Amino acid sequence: MFVFDAHLDLAMNAMEWNRELTWPVTAIRTSEIGMTDKPDRNKNTVSLQDMRRGNIGLCVATQIARFSKKTNPLPGWKSPQQAWAQTQGQLAWYKSMEDIGEMVQIRNLEQLKAHLQLWETPKEKKPIGYILSLEGADSIISTHYLEKSYEQGLRAIGPAHYGPGTYAQGTNGEGGIGIKGKTLLKEIERLNLILDVTHLNDQSFWETLKIFNGPVWASHNNCRALVDHNRQFSDLQIKELIKRQAVIGMALDAWMLAPNWIRGISTPKGLGVTLHNMIDNMDHICQLAGNTNHVGIGTDLDGGFGTEQCPSDLNTISDIQKVPNMLQKRGYSPNDIENIMHKNFLGFLERTWK
Ligand SMILES: [Zn+2]
Repeated sequence: MFVFDAHLDLAMNAMEWNRELTWPVTAIRTSEIGMTDKPDRNKNTVSLQDMRRGNIGLCVATQIARFSKKTNPLPGWKSPQQAWAQTQGQLAWYKSMEDIGEMVQIRNLEQLKAHLQLWETPKEKKPIGYILSLEGADSIISTHYLEKSYEQGLRAIGPAHYGPGTYAQGTNGEGGIGIKGKTLLKEIERLNLILDVTHLNDQSFWETLKIFNGPVWASHNNCRALVDHNRQFSDLQIKELIKRQAVIGMALDAWMLAPNWIRGISTPKGLGVTLHNMIDNMDHICQLAGNTNHVGIGTDLDGGFGTEQCPSDLNTISDIQKVPNMLQKRGYSPNDIENIMHKNFLGFLERTWK
C-alpha cells in the first residue's frame, strides 16, 4: 500500500550524520561499524532505496537548524545566520538528489497529482516525492527569509523544536510565542504555509491556535494519555486539532510509545515496544474523533535514533508495510486503513493547495 510519511530528517542525516542515503540501509550500517559519535551508528533504518522498497513514495522532509543563545544549554548554532546557512546546505542536498532522479520536490496540487500517478505505474526506480518543511524556525532571520524559503519550495513550518526558540517555545521549554511569534504566524498565514504544531509546548500551542487561521497539522506527535510527557498531545489538544481538520502523524521513537522508557538503558525488546504501540496511539485519536480521518504516519525514523530506540518488529522503514495488516486485525476497514496510510494527509494537501 502507498505510504505517506509526514516526517523525515533526510538532509540532516546526509549532511550531519554523513549518510549516503542512495545506499541500502544495510550498506549504510556497514559503513558505520566502529563509529561511536552518535547513539544510532550502525543502527539506522532509513534510506531512499528502503523507502522505495516499502512503497513510501511521498514524505515531508525537513530542513532543521537551531540557534542557541548563550543561556540555552541545547546544542545549536551561535547565530541565526549560521542556522540559515545550515538549512541552505540541506536544501542543496535535496536538490542534488533531484538532479539524479532520487527525489522530486512537490510544491503544488498539479505536481502532487502527477507524482501519485507516477507511483501507480510500474517503473524500476521512482523518485521519492518530498514536501519541504522547516522543523524549528530559528533559522528564519526575518520574515523576508520566510518568503525566500517559500520560493525555494517550503510548504510547512514548525515554529519550535526542543527548548527555547526565537518564535515559540518547544518541548520542555517554558513560555509562549511573544511578538516575534505572532509576526511569524501572520506571515505563515499570508503565504498559506502549513503550520506544524509538533513540538510546541502547551502555552505556545494554545497561543498559536488562538491567533492562527491557516491550515494546521502535526507531522509527528503521539498521545499524552498513553505516555505522559509534554512532548505528547493531551486529549484536549487532540480534540482541538480534530476541530481544526488537522491530521496527526504517529512517530516511532520508542520513548514516545512506551511509558517508563529510559534513554540509553531501556531496549525495545525489554519493554516490549512494537508497532502495536503506534497503533494504540492511532486508535486513541480515532476514538476521540469518532472516525479515522485525523491520523496518519510521521515516523521520524531518522530523527537521531535507530533500531536501539524504535519498535522491535521494525528493521528498516520498509517494515511500515506491516501496519495495514495489523490495523486490519484490530478491526479497521480497508477504507480506514487507506485513510491512515496516506489518504488523510493527501486530502489535507488537496484542501490546502486547491
Ligand atoms: Zn521532531
